[in-house]
Amino acid sequence: MPIAATKPAHFGLRSHAIRCVALGLAFIAVPVMPAMGAPKAGWFPDPPSTPLFAWNYKPCNGCADLQPRAAWLKMSGRAGLHDIHFLLAPDETNGPAYSYAPDAVVLSPTALKLKPCQLSFLVGHELVHIAQRHFDEDAVILSVLSGKKPGWTHDGERAMHLLDDDFVLALRMSPTWQQQEREADWMGALLAADACGCTVEQGAFSYLKRDADAGGGVAAAHESSRERLHFLQAFDESAKRLAARAD
Ligand SMILES: [Zn+2]
Repeated sequence: MPIAATKPAHFGLRSHAIRCVALGLAFIAVPVMPAMGAPKAGWFPDPPSTPLFAWNYKPCNGCADLQPRAAWLKMSGRAGLHDIHFLLAPDETNGPAYSYAPDAVVLSPTALKLKPCQLSFLVGHELVHIAQRHFDEDAVILSVLSGKKPGWTHDGERAMHLLDDDFVLALRMSPTWQQQEREADWMGALLAADACGCTVEQGAFSYLKRDADAGGGVAAAHESSRERLHFLQAFDESAKRLAARAD
């Protein structure tokens, strides 16, 4: 789904207003305790040094709290995250899964019916967006591309509003978004392997093959599912090794 008709989806949607970042939804900082005792994975990158923006939490319309499954908590811990909010969307309007800055993952009713490894890939992908603070990275890059002075705002939502009605700026952000989506794909697939024993075939491939022609579009964030499948093949063996070690 486009951001202001331009920025497309995550797993269906990486909307501006959502993951995704924040056109209107966001939060405030969070505590620090490993989830369910799952230690951070040695292969998972340390938190980025990207400047922190403030994100003010506003629950999505009609979303309800969702009791996290053990697998999601384990993946959170392996990504070095804690106290992630899991929410159930009221319908499929915004796609099967998306994330909010700085710490919420929203799943649709249909997503919850996916096979466990498919769902783990989806959740893992969104956790990577949060762990790598892609929303803060967006705020920084949008500020730079817009000629703003460093520190002009600490309000993430304000920075994201630079995109309002600015299709050219969205186009200039597209390579960044695609890079972030690739990162979320491969690290999400490996989180599913590490924490849940899911191979790429059982998780990412199985999910993306459901609609190989999805994705792309104007100012695309995601590549097409076909391209994502091709990119993820390089991580097949690594995932198998991690999956074989999973408890
Ligand atoms: Zn994404």
